[in-house]
Amino acid sequence: MPPHTVILILFAVSGLVVGSFSNVLLIRTAKGKPLDGRSKCPHCKKVIAWYDLIPVLSFVLLGGRCRRCKKPIGLRYPLTELATMILFIAAYLLHSNNLPLAIMTVIVFWGILLVTVFDAYEMMIPDAFTAIIAIGALGTMWLEQQFLSPLLGACVGAAWFGFQWLISRGKIVGSGDIFLGFSLGLWLGLSKTIPMLAIAYMTGACVGVILIAMDRATRKSRLAFGPFLAIGAFAAYLGVGDAYLQLIGL
Ligand SMILES: [Zn+2]
Repeated sequence: MPPHTVILILFAVSGLVVGSFSNVLLIRTAKGKPLDGRSKCPHCKKVIAWYDLIPVLSFVLLGGRCRRCKKPIGLRYPLTELATMILFIAAYLLHSNNLPLAIMTVIVFWGILLVTVFDAYEMMIPDAFTAIIAIGALGTMWLEQQFLSPLLGACVGAAWFGFQWLISRGKIVGSGDIFLGFSLGLWLGLSKTIPMLAIAYMTGACVGVILIAMDRATRKSRLAFGPFLAIGAFAAYLGVGDAYLQLIGL
């Protein structure tokens, strides 16, 4: 097997394992429980056997139900595992000629995934998850030996949310958003931080309008912003923002 394929498979398998760990991390952080100890079924409290904890495969083999009490296991678990695997593969394919950079990108992608899923379910962003993005961003900055653009991006990202936090006295955005804006800006650099914010707000506004139109939400409903910021960050990272800026003539 060519080395390229071997490394790709290693990234994919690591993605599944890290995805499985992410589920534990997300659930236990939400419930304020320690990370040690075996995983239990939330319905019947039985400790889950190792062979029922194989990422994605166990969910399929069990038909999405607990082996003992037959209550459904949330679809979010295999989806988180699959999403982590896809992000790990994408990070490698984007930087297959630079393994250290691929690993830093994996760290950033993983942090974004944790922030997104946690915010979608709990409506808050733990600083510990955002710190993972910041670590990957610092590593990327060091590998690329580019300092000015990341630092300016971090300032813009932090200032954008810091300003809203100040004028709304913490009501529109939380202090966690400021650190998230800082970390994503540090990773993307100045030229991609502004497209990230633009794409995030446009996507968020579109989804908000659709939800209101479908009577799924009212004007007063709160929408978790983390997932939209993640969409904006990925799109900007892949250069979608540059095309958009050209389109509006900037
Ligand atoms: Zn059970």
